[in-house]
Amino acid sequence: MQKKDLFKKIPQVEEILKNSRIEELDYSRTLKTKATREVLEDIRNKIIHCNEDEVEKLSTEINDENIIIKVEERLYREFSPSLLKVINGTGTILHTNLGRSLLDDSIKEDIWNIISSYSNLEYDIAEGKRGSRYSHVTKMIKLLFGVEDALIVNNNAAAVFLVLNTFAKDKEAIVSRGELVEVGGAFRIPSVMAMSGANLVEVGSTNKTRVEDYEEAITEETAVLMKVHTSNYKLIGFTDAVSNKELKELGDKYDIPVMEDLGSGVYFNMEEYGLPHEPTISESIKSGIDLITFSGDKLLGGPQAGIIVGKKEYIDKMKKNQILRALRVDKFTLAALECTIRMYFDEEKAKKHIPTIRMITLTPEELFERAEVLKEKIDGRDTRINVYIEDGKSTVGGGSMPGEEFDSKVIVLTGDGLTADKIEETLRLSSSHIIGRIKDDKYMLDLRTLNDKDFDRIAEEIENCFPRR
Ligand SMILES: *Cc1c(COP(=O)(O)O)cnc(C)c1O
Repeated sequence: MQKKDLFKKIPQVEEILKNSRIEELDYSRTLKTKATREVLEDIRNKIIHCNEDEVEKLSTEINDENIIIKVEERLYREFSPSLLKVINGTGTILHTNLGRSLLDDSIKEDIWNIISSYSNLEYDIAEGKRGSRYSHVTKMIKLLFGVEDALIVNNNAAAVFLVLNTFAKDKEAIVSRGELVEVGGAFRIPSVMAMSGANLVEVGSTNKTRVEDYEEAITEETAVLMKVHTSNYKLIGFTDAVSNKELKELGDKYDIPVMEDLGSGVYFNMEEYGLPHEPTISESIKSGIDLITFSGDKLLGGPQAGIIVGKKEYIDKMKKNQILRALRVDKFTLAALECTIRMYFDEEKAKKHIPTIRMITLTPEELFERAEVLKEKIDGRDTRINVYIEDGKSTVGGGSMPGEEFDSKVIVLTGDGLTADKIEETLRLSSSHIIGRIKDDKYMLDLRTLNDKDFDRIAEEIENCFPRR
């Protein structure tokens, strides 16, 4: 056979599309045609570039069966969903790469009810006229925290941006050198300030800033005094920072608004759960500070959002800023946030139905019990993986509580001739996408971030990936 004869073996696109296996696939005709054309084009290129001694081999390769398999693979690869569920066994609760906070099944219906129907998003039912999308969650937040007013934007970065853009555009905002934070994903406080149009005035030194440092920097141009919670690093040793209360007193003296970027925003006192003290939202509010911003999907455990709470006169001013339109959240976020905030009125409910809080408050006994259940499920499978339970360490993550680890239980997976890396890669690439952690050359899954409802799936996947030989 000669090279040019190979081209004659290439079927027509129509011929492939008419094949019953292709016809049955649940993709549109346009996508099927596209995939088929591409597969046939690949073959054409292969022929063009092949040597004479490869002709025979290629000739047997070009047949309908092979082409149909390639078309199926291509359709599956290119047109299956890209956003996938993964199983988090890393022990990092607020894993930014894995989607930060989770929402509970118990609020599914409430959220779905709002997003699959028309709603009073911007409609006042009592008055029968236009309402405000910001009124809904705001009502709950005011009740929960006892603040004058609140505003919700896309995320905390947007919240900081909005405050600075509203009050300090073309003016000055004073911030401590010890608080020029960079959060993951290249969010840098100095860059956000610059984009907001505020001129950043740095005071103090990296490890020490006193209230006099702020006072000396105040000029006619000063529009905001700012505090940033150094959420992802710790200053230890010879350090000094100005308290919210001192800064608020200074702000009052010169009639300048004081804001705090609180970062995570916790509601419960974390010390009760063996974690270091993290300033709570209520503590910040009590200090009298004018505006506080925090994330919706860090320790609060809700959807991605930026929450601004504080004085009504300032919030009103921000509501009039045209840029708010570009930062606004949709009904999905508002519904999820309202469901989350409502849960906080009942502490037991919050611990049970806000996954982030639930994971943090799991006790060592509960973790051990869950480890035993999962181990038993895996032991009951026909797999060559051995499982044992060990003490481990979880982290909060999400740029919260730097360097702090707390006790957890893990299951360690081993197998003859299997390295930790091999187990890690196999389970990660499996259809369940199990993401574990390797420590001291051991592959482990942390019970704190695993969900009971995935246990059967995990055991089944381990059997699929590592059947007994
Ligand atoms: C996480 C964090 C941010 C950014 O919050 P997003 O909700 O991710 O935009 C800003 N400031 C601080 C101090 C943070 O910890």
